[in-house]
Amino acid sequence: MRYSKLLLPTTKETPAEAEVISHQLLLRAGFIRKLTSGLYTYLPLGFMALQKVSQIVREEMNRAGAQELLMPMVQPGDLWRETGRWQKYGAELLRFKDRHDRDYCLGPTHEEVITDLARRELQSYRQLPVNLYQIQTKFRDEIRPRFGLMRGREFIMKDAYSFDVSDEAASESYQKMYDAYQRIFARCGLEFRAVEADTGSIGGSFSHEFMVLADTGEDTLVICKACSYAANVEKAAVVLPEKTPVQKEPAELTRVETPGMKKVDRVAEFLGVSPADIIKTMVYLADGEPVAVLVRGDREVQDVKLGNILGATEVELADDDTVWKLTRLPVGYIGPREIPIRTVADQEVMRMVNAVTGANEKGYHLTGVNPGRDFTPDLVGDLRQITTEDPCPSCGGQLELTRGIEVGHIFKLGTSYSQAMNATFQDREGGEKPFVMGCYGIGVSRVVAAAIEQNHDKNGIIFPLPLAPFQVILLNLGLNNEETTRAAEGLYEDLQARGIEVLYDDRDERPGSKFKDADLIGIPYRITVGKTYEKEGRVELRRRRDGETTTIDYDGAADHVASLI
Ligand code: ATP
Ligand code: MG
Ligand code: MG
Ligand code: MG
Repeated sequence: MRYSKLLLPTTKETPAEAEVISHQLLLRAGFIRKLTSGLYTYLPLGFMALQKVSQIVREEMNRAGAQELLMPMVQPGDLWRETGRWQKYGAELLRFKDRHDRDYCLGPTHEEVITDLARRELQSYRQLPVNLYQIQTKFRDEIRPRFGLMRGREFIMKDAYSFDVSDEAASESYQKMYDAYQRIFARCGLEFRAVEADTGSIGGSFSHEFMVLADTGEDTLVICKACSYAANVEKAAVVLPEKTPVQKEPAELTRVETPGMKKVDRVAEFLGVSPADIIKTMVYLADGEPVAVLVRGDREVQDVKLGNILGATEVELADDDTVWKLTRLPVGYIGPREIPIRTVADQEVMRMVNAVTGANEKGYHLTGVNPGRDFTPDLVGDLRQITTEDPCPSCGGQLELTRGIEVGHIFKLGTSYSQAMNATFQDREGGEKPFVMGCYGIGVSRVVAAAIEQNHDKNGIIFPLPLAPFQVILLNLGLNNEETTRAAEGLYEDLQARGIEVLYDDRDERPGSKFKDADLIGIPYRITVGKTYEKEGRVELRRRRDGETTTIDYDGAADHVASLI
């Protein structure tokens, strides 16, 4: 590509509205232009970088056995009603009507659409497992679109969805994606970390986020120095033992003794399930009847307070129903040596005979609790952020905090979507079963921004080689010298012939401004054909990352550069 023919509008000034470095540099280097809040045009160089990420993602998804497809961005509201998310999703979902007054939304994610496809096209266990993905524009009406590509309203996401016959098979699909994500971000040349994550509004039983490590990241990560434990602090929040929900009308409530109701067989009997189905239990006694929560994880359950469970952000409370479905629990532990509450899967149900809550005393609880009436509804104060003073929830070792940018997120969804949408297949025995699902996102456009947050200096972007729009920038500093120009043009041809992606700066500009632009746009290698060529038949090769500069023989230059790439 010839620079003189390229739409590459670089600027010297830092745009006032850009707070973070990636936003500033993407604007200054002519990669993006803003249309309006949260909406950006990718100019040619920006689009090239985006394509680099997409291609790596595509290759690794295909390698992991996933199949690419493309779904509509506009989605019918009725599908979202089936899962209840039409009401639940909130203002990030851009809803609108067509001329027939039917509800639609712009897809912020595609669980509903893909589950609809699965229920129509996948009938038998023989067709499973299936993993389908797309690389597509998403729209989320973010409350605070900012930081350029980091948090747009419109952005490019790779989203994948897996369908399996069983929880076990779904775990395998999840692991495959986990491994694929490790390869993807390693291939992007980024320093990153997979951390345990909260499942948010997508729901699901467990998940990991892939975080590009950068001081400017919006997420705080907690990492153990002694073991492999790493989590988003959102997930690793500590439940404060001394701060149960604020009780408003204590007179209404009765304090009852709830001694050691933690035996698996008693819970099993109460729920009418086999003890083998119970992974872990937390049991309370209310008015003579046990109240149970089944918990994943392998730790001995000690004293978990229902008050803390009520602090969960997405617990569905049915007023007079005896069954409460837990969609999400805060994760943490109570007291120094007690349990980390892992996530509770959707199908795991807590049955309540009478609302109870923790009395903040081992072996005692309050009965007759009406959470809204008796306690302040916002119980988030019960969670505090984990600190480096806390022991590692996994091994008790020392923790450290660091910051990251969420570039990928994988979820084990279980059957919540397939059940809600009645998406089933015939199993080996001929029975109808809901698909066990997983979903896997990568913020393709955010990866470009994250790469810049992690790799830049005062002169501009320093692209990791795999994401750079061009691998080499070739500067011709002797435009008026016929011989130099012939040499530069010749090298341009030779580099291209070797499959090297080269941007040839053939502009009639001063050397200083060519050097500045080359640094700003962050191309990993710079070759200069100029005075040294005229005098000695040599060209200058400079590495953007550390400025290391050598002169090499013109004749071997293309081969030499090819060996670096
Ligand atoms: P965040 O916590 O940053 O709001 P999220 O958890 O809402 O992200 P997911 O639903 O997990 O996002 O979506 C998958 C991926 O899409 C994220 O890991 C992130 O890389 C990317 N992404 C999400 N929202 C945006 C956005 N507004 N702009 C750019 N990329 C985004
Ligand atoms: Mg979000
Ligand atoms: Mg998030
Ligand atoms: Mg996420």
